[in-house]
Amino acid sequence: MTTTWPDFTETDAAALVTRLRKVHRSGRTKPLAWRRAQLTQLRALLTDNRKDIADALWADLHKSPNEVDIAEINLTILEIDDYLEHLEEWLAPQPAEVDVPHLPEGTTAHTEFDPLGVALVLSAWNYPIYLLLTPVAGALAAGNAVVIKPSELAEQTSALLARLIPAYLDTDAVAVVEGGVAPTTALLAQNFDHIFYTGNGTVGRIVMRAAAEHLTPVTLELGGKSPVFVDRDTDIAAVAERIASTKFSNAGQICVAPDYVLTDPETAQALTTALAQVVQELYGDDPQTSGTYGRIINERHFDRLTALLGSGRTALGGQSDRTEKYIAPTVLLDVQPDEPVMQEEIFGPILPILTVADLTEAIDFINDRDKPLAVYAFTDNDTTRTRLITETSSGAVNFGLPVFHLTVPTLPFGGVGESGMGNYHGRYSLETFSHRKTVFNVPLN
Ligand code: NAD
Repeated sequence: MTTTWPDFTETDAAALVTRLRKVHRSGRTKPLAWRRAQLTQLRALLTDNRKDIADALWADLHKSPNEVDIAEINLTILEIDDYLEHLEEWLAPQPAEVDVPHLPEGTTAHTEFDPLGVALVLSAWNYPIYLLLTPVAGALAAGNAVVIKPSELAEQTSALLARLIPAYLDTDAVAVVEGGVAPTTALLAQNFDHIFYTGNGTVGRIVMRAAAEHLTPVTLELGGKSPVFVDRDTDIAAVAERIASTKFSNAGQICVAPDYVLTDPETAQALTTALAQVVQELYGDDPQTSGTYGRIINERHFDRLTALLGSGRTALGGQSDRTEKYIAPTVLLDVQPDEPVMQEEIFGPILPILTVADLTEAIDFINDRDKPLAVYAFTDNDTTRTRLITETSSGAVNFGLPVFHLTVPTLPFGGVGESGMGNYHGRYSLETFSHRKTVFNVPLN
């Protein structure tokens, strides 16, 4: 199904931003009570509509209702609840020491969070609820008006959000624009106070170029190839369970999914055997008939991914079915660094395993490439942990459970270099969508 959306031109975009800016200037979005009311309504949107959300995500991505509950709805609620509990405390002015000899006695100062104004949130399709509403919650908590553009690639979810958001949130200050490149381009021509984009680096560059015209700050939540280092002498059955359950979830379409494994040749063999066992336990003999295994979002991504299946030697999976956009959980062995599967972020259920002689070679391999969104490792060795933390650069280092660091609202989530700029979640979103303003008071006499 291909939806067409009503035209949304630059004139429409300009009128929308002018309207929201006026509302923001009126002070409507600033009081704590307004922010809390919007967050409470956002929470209600999620809890009242679990069934419709699950249906839309099944249609878009074959996402299982259980995963929708946990990864799309409950994780977003966790973020909202964090604001509802802490926002007042976080918004309290922070006194600053002004202990300098050249100022009159009695000088005082503090900092406080000032809402930026009108924010634009452009989101991705792979977790189209969580990745959209989490930054929106942050923008509302910070007291902004918001223009929301869901990804048109998850079209059922986009349509549902376009119906629900105006029914729950303050339509004077929050607007949804649906559609693809044309409305996004029209929006990007406007003077926003912040643009928050989740997606790929090519469009990230388009966003940043457009933002530069207005000196608009941007947050870019991008992707990359997140490596997994598996040390010898770890519990391979447990490692395989952690890797398979995160790599093959949502058919590998997770920005922080393990992209490839670096390990020694012996461990590579043992890990492959263990992965086959876990995949069988998770999805049965034929994952295509499993009720919990996902599908690829569209034909373009399906074709891109099946072209990567020729790299290395297929040790597990490898089957695909274009009519269903199905690609089996796949493990590739004997992969060489110059093969296609190692040239781009995979963003699908294909796991290449590459062999390295030791940790130093693994670190060099990681550092020879773009800075990833996460570096993962399974090791019991403290020196190995310290070396990975200090000798590589990435959005996060995670020992033991890939992906899950992003589920914790007290941790900033974001990339570095090619994997993005800026971060969010919990109070970090508040910082992202606010200006920390200095207030300075000097006595006259
Ligand atoms: P995408 O969502 O990044 O790109 C497609 C979107 O870009 C569409 O909505 C389309 O309308 C828009 N677009 C395309 N051309 C445009 C143009 N010229 N001007 C304006 N907008 C344009 O889709 P994708 O590339 O399939 O997404 C996958 C990428 O997103 C991966 O790299 C993944 O790692 C990343 N991602 C990152 C995170 C994160 O939180 N860091 C989360 C999810 C996905």
